[in-house]
Amino acid sequence: MAPRVAIVGAGFGGLCMAIQLERAGIRSYTVFEKAGDLGGTWRDNSYPGAGCDIPSHLYSYSFEKYASWTRRYPEQPEILGYLEHCADKYDVRRKIRFSTEVRRAVFDGAQWQISTADGTEAFDVLVMGVGQLNRPRMPDIPGMAEFEGVSFHSARWNHEHDLTGRRVAVIGNGSSAAQLIPRVAERAEHLHVFQRTPNWVIPKPDAAFGPLTRLAFHYVPGLQRAYREWIYRYAEGTLYPALSQGWSVGLLKQRALRHLRDQVPDPALRAKLTPDYPPGCKRVVIDSSFYPALTRPNVSVVTDKIVRVTSKGVETTEGTYEVDTIVYATGFKSTEFLAPMEVVGRDGQTLEERWADGAEAYLGISVPGFPNMFMLYGPNTNLGHNSIVFMIECQVDHVMACLPYLGGSGPIEVRPEVMAAWRRQLDAAMDRMVWGAGCQSWYKTASGRVTNNWPGTTTLYRRLTARPPRPAYRVIGAG
Ligand code: NAP
Repeated sequence: MAPRVAIVGAGFGGLCMAIQLERAGIRSYTVFEKAGDLGGTWRDNSYPGAGCDIPSHLYSYSFEKYASWTRRYPEQPEILGYLEHCADKYDVRRKIRFSTEVRRAVFDGAQWQISTADGTEAFDVLVMGVGQLNRPRMPDIPGMAEFEGVSFHSARWNHEHDLTGRRVAVIGNGSSAAQLIPRVAERAEHLHVFQRTPNWVIPKPDAAFGPLTRLAFHYVPGLQRAYREWIYRYAEGTLYPALSQGWSVGLLKQRALRHLRDQVPDPALRAKLTPDYPPGCKRVVIDSSFYPALTRPNVSVVTDKIVRVTSKGVETTEGTYEVDTIVYATGFKSTEFLAPMEVVGRDGQTLEERWADGAEAYLGISVPGFPNMFMLYGPNTNLGHNSIVFMIECQVDHVMACLPYLGGSGPIEVRPEVMAAWRRQLDAAMDRMVWGAGCQSWYKTASGRVTNNWPGTTTLYRRLTARPPRPAYRVIGAG
């Protein structure tokens, strides 16, 4: 009998899992989605300018080519449209329970008991597809509640609030801020960008596909595949070595500095925007309109330390900036992974207890003590150089390869010694990566452990996840 599979989340990960189950003829699955619609991060992040800095043809499922992409780099509505297209084409929407948040998942020795506001239901397999960046992180600045204007997080954009003629503060200057700042600057009377740490920025060579190119993508056999392969190889061959401190480190830095020089003529502003840590330590911003926006007369970059938010604006060590709107582009609770869901594994251990020193999982997918539970885009599977969708597909393939073993003698879990070996390999690989030192980022815990990023090439990850999974797992209770 086919296993009953619970999938949590209907974003890129959860949908991919559902689609592959459908394609394999396994219909005994349910997707739980806390929001009223699918799309995950691409439903939540609808701020002006939202898009992806990974090219469209690579930021999509390998099994679902899409000749309809209109640009090299997709914008948020188009990505959401792609996911809706996939959900409809593979007929998985009917299996999604919208507005149904999984609050608790408890392994009872044989099955997972999944609790939502509607009650508790048993499943054989639990697949977590909640992503790493689904819970906005509001900063802890004194006085935020006293602000009398309008404030919101970049991932909870207030579309009712017209920014025309407003005095706006944007706190943060990461990838989200870099995308929304140019759009806000076009409307606002004045925009103050509060920058705590400058980011390395490289150009995004975006362009619309002309009618001939789009026709070619439609009709020339193999063209989409070849184009995707080329982008993939470029990212692996040039960007990855920069992050692993290989041959292209200097090139990345030169490219970013040249971009800064080309786009920011004022030396004082340039100095403010020049990072003092190695490129790639924090996520490199890939954007061509961010710097020009910062040079506009109605935009100022504030680098003083924020002291508090007042009823009228933002107070720093150097003065007060009166604004009527504050946008918190302050990122996400990235290292907490499955929180606030309570996940209780074998012997009553919670994931929170298991992960007291930081989240970890074999291949980023499986955790000892949590049988028949798999994660998509779990610990140490984020990338700074390539498409997460590629990683998700590897993970889904691994879960699919595990399924035949699950109906046999009992639930399976990853062997503790395999997990221990995995941790040692990760630690060794992490040593050569640029993320470890010199900066603070969402890739790591407060104690400095990198829990989010994958330190290898994606080609290696594909090879590791494609190995027959059985030797790494044991049937619980069987030793
Ligand atoms: P982020 O990279 O975590 O940036 C948060 C920003 O807020 C940083 O500039 C941070 O400053 C600042 N900040 C946080 N707390 C603050 C405080 N108390 N006072 C002042 N500043 C504060 O978040 P994000 O920009 O939303 O991006 C998150 C990730 O989402 C990206 O790295 C990327 O992986 C993904 N993303 C991708 C795309 C894409 O095109 N593919 C687009 C958007 C987002 P510090 O740097 O000093 O900490």
